[in-house]
Amino acid sequence: MFTIDAHLDLSMNALEWNRDLKLPVAEINKREDGLTDKPDRCKATVSLPELRKGNIGLVVATQIARYVAPGNPLPGWHSPEQAWAQTQGQLAWYKAMEEAGEMIQINDIASLEKHLALWTNESSNDNKPIGYILSLEGADSIVTINHLEKAYQYGLRAVGPAHYGPGRYANGTDATGKMNANGLALLKKMEELNIILDATHLCDDAFWQAMDHFNGHIWASHNNVRALVNHNRQFSDEQIKELINRGAVIGGALDAWMMVPNWVRGQSTPQSMNCTLEIMIDHLDHICQIAGNTLHIGIGSDLDGAFGKEQCPYDLETIADLQKLPSMFEKKGYSPADIENIMHGNWLRFLGNAWK
Ligand SMILES: [Zn+2]
Repeated sequence: MFTIDAHLDLSMNALEWNRDLKLPVAEINKREDGLTDKPDRCKATVSLPELRKGNIGLVVATQIARYVAPGNPLPGWHSPEQAWAQTQGQLAWYKAMEEAGEMIQINDIASLEKHLALWTNESSNDNKPIGYILSLEGADSIVTINHLEKAYQYGLRAVGPAHYGPGRYANGTDATGKMNANGLALLKKMEELNIILDATHLCDDAFWQAMDHFNGHIWASHNNVRALVNHNRQFSDEQIKELINRGAVIGGALDAWMMVPNWVRGQSTPQSMNCTLEIMIDHLDHICQIAGNTLHIGIGSDLDGAFGKEQCPYDLETIADLQKLPSMFEKKGYSPADIENIMHGNWLRFLGNAWK
């Protein structure tokens, strides 16, 4: 079934993990044999051929770069300009993939419709470019509001103002506190440019403030629920209700610590914690129970988002295994129409509204 994944850090993997995503995952992992600089070496699950194999023809792909003020212990750049430069390198990689015929940027209704026609025709996926909608995870790299305009020009269509910790525009996961004047100005400019607000990673204070101030289109690209794993990175039922009222679609994520409670990074294993793809369905099902329908969920796997096979469902070898989901949803009693909505229809309806 044609599938959309609303959150993949592809350029980060290419440039910070040094992964040639044109290759099959097995080759990428083989090349990493012996490397110990990151915990997920040899445990990649994502590459462009695997996406084709899994019929995942459209993804939301990120630029990501953090600024850290003195005293902030998180990894990051010491100035916004350096963070901007990193995102421009990431953009250069996406452009190189376009030149190589491996990817294609989707940024309006016309390009979306053309791409869908290509991916839903009968021919083999082997030579089809992966469509990508460009998104920015954490807005620290937007040096000034004028940079957002530049970014829109090169195709940026969604922004999550926050990531982890304190941000220049909004505080994120594990942080607290409302947005400053710059954060509110960013939201205003996003609304003006019709850039989608990604509510993922906003801390609770910033989340509710953003809901009050932003009148544009809102999604949550990769987010699970607090009712099942109680952490500030997850959505409370009240947040889910608000997002549903705003017409949002929420993408279920496959990072194990967000799926099963009491995950200990570096110690827990997917097998010992019984972390399977079905757990993501539990999170998504919780959202459907609140909504009373299946119209507000999709997939935003975040696979290879600084974790690999050591920290994702053990019944997933590569991202192509997302194709196991339709039959799993069916077993849970979801109808064929529900399943099509979840695998692609809800994101497409959202984009149709946002870009009309
Ligand atoms: Zn994230």
